[in-house]
Amino acid sequence: MKAGVIAVQGDVSEHADAIRRVGARRGEETTVVEIRESGIVPECDVLLVPGGESTTISGLLHREGIAGEIRSHVAANKPVLATCAGLIVCSRDAKDDRVDTLSAIDVSVDRNAFGRQRDSFEAPLDVEGLEDPFPAVFIRAPAIDEVGESVEVLASWDGRPVCVRDGPVVGSAFHPELTDDPRIHELAFAPEREVEAR
Ligand code: GLN
Repeated sequence: MKAGVIAVQGDVSEHADAIRRVGARRGEETTVVEIRESGIVPECDVLLVPGGESTTISGLLHREGIAGEIRSHVAANKPVLATCAGLIVCSRDAKDDRVDTLSAIDVSVDRNAFGRQRDSFEAPLDVEGLEDPFPAVFIRAPAIDEVGESVEVLASWDGRPVCVRDGPVVGSAFHPELTDDPRIHELAFAPEREVEAR
């Protein structure tokens, strides 16, 4: 598996480690490449759009010509995991003119819906397809407020969807890379398999 982590801004190395853990659990050779320019996405089997600042990430993706490549990757039905700001960037509507969204997940989102940096929290989250709750870390997290027909809600917190799947794309409002539990990465990148217990 060749995995591309969008690295124009945001947390990259923790995701790279989580992807390597998924590869190791599957006994599969895994290469992780960091993407800051166009031309690399087409070589990748799976993609990760990390957290960070969605206004910055979306601007750089368009400026570098990576945005269209991500759309083509999704159109080819190849897996993507988009976390936090990545979910915002991949949404249909972030209700903020500064975020030029990719419409890879048919949801609209509310940025910073769970409060500011100091309101960050960890919660045991029941996620569809996982046997035990996932330790979900929320940092200035978005909430999903509208889901299209093609969208499956995998987890909700406080009555609001926080993890969804739309075709090949899984989006999480929380940061699965900040724990040593790779099950969300596995859920996104190995959807054909039962996700093993930790
Ligand atoms: N609040 C940030 C944004 O709107 C996302 C925060 C994060 O990725 N941890 O871009």
